[in-house]
Amino acid sequence: MSAGNAVSSFHVLTKPTGAICNLDCKYCFFLSNVLCTVHAKNADHPLEVYRFFRDELGTRHIQLIPIVERVNSDGRTRFQEGTEVTDRSVTAEQWGRFLVAIFDEWVKRDVGTVFVQMFDAALASWAGVPPALCIFAETCGDAVALEHTGDLYSCDHFVEPKHLLGNIADTPLATLVGSPKQRAFGAAKRDTLPRYCLECPVRFACHGECPKNRFILTPDGEPGLNYLCAGYKAFFTHVDRPMRIMADLLRRNQYADEVMGILAQQEAALVAAAAKAGRNEPCPCGSGLKAKCCHGSPARQSQ
Ligand code: SF4
Ligand code: SF4
Repeated sequence: MSAGNAVSSFHVLTKPTGAICNLDCKYCFFLSNVLCTVHAKNADHPLEVYRFFRDELGTRHIQLIPIVERVNSDGRTRFQEGTEVTDRSVTAEQWGRFLVAIFDEWVKRDVGTVFVQMFDAALASWAGVPPALCIFAETCGDAVALEHTGDLYSCDHFVEPKHLLGNIADTPLATLVGSPKQRAFGAAKRDTLPRYCLECPVRFACHGECPKNRFILTPDGEPGLNYLCAGYKAFFTHVDRPMRIMADLLRRNQYADEVMGILAQQEAALVAAAAKAGRNEPCPCGSGLKAKCCHGSPARQSQ
């Protein structure tokens, strides 16, 4: 199946219906719940991707997964090792722009009707509750991976020899999950953050993301920074104001979707203020741009 230039080709698994399906799924990865990988090919087309899922597939739950594929010393991509990535991988900047573009569309019209897992997780952080997404949790280690052989690994992103916990035929599952090795694996997510992350204003939402992506140097040369850092920093900084509004609504037992009306009112007020300002005056929104290039532009005024 193809969807114009943005998404040249992909596979769709169609959920069986009626008598064929006896699973009565409430949550799955089929058409009502899309899991979308974001990579070099589609990363520059965020709105085409999002609108296709929303408008053509009718999807209401979307998971976005950045593809970061590390190249090992033997040229293969089997393990989370190496500091180079394949050319299929998304860049940090692409990832940030992808998230920001979809968020801006979602927060204007889709809050409460389309659920983007990454945005829900961010809102949880702004609301002060633990995010349901392990990559944004302070520690991890509770999502182990079990192979058909009975081998248990620390995480499905680390199914490799040095993260083998044991075999459930030899040791009870609970013992392996609670083992010092696995607890250390989970705590390392917090304890190995570079200073750059410890001093980051959006650490409360990011927590350095997944350890599998922490293989670049910080600006001052410390190892362990997340490859996607620039993208996450851009995204979490960008969403701060609407996230604060939604978190505040939730604290007052109101619905987060009221943010759409609040933002529309604020936008209209800024457009009106910009119209009164001189075209070459600074825009009243504080962007630093001239009014004619920001809320005073014909495009904004005609919205
Ligand atoms: S290693 Fe990454 S994917 Fe695995 S549990 Fe930790 S944060 Fe989650
Ligand atoms: S945005 Fe970057 S610096 Fe901040 S916590 Fe995340 S990875 Fe660390």
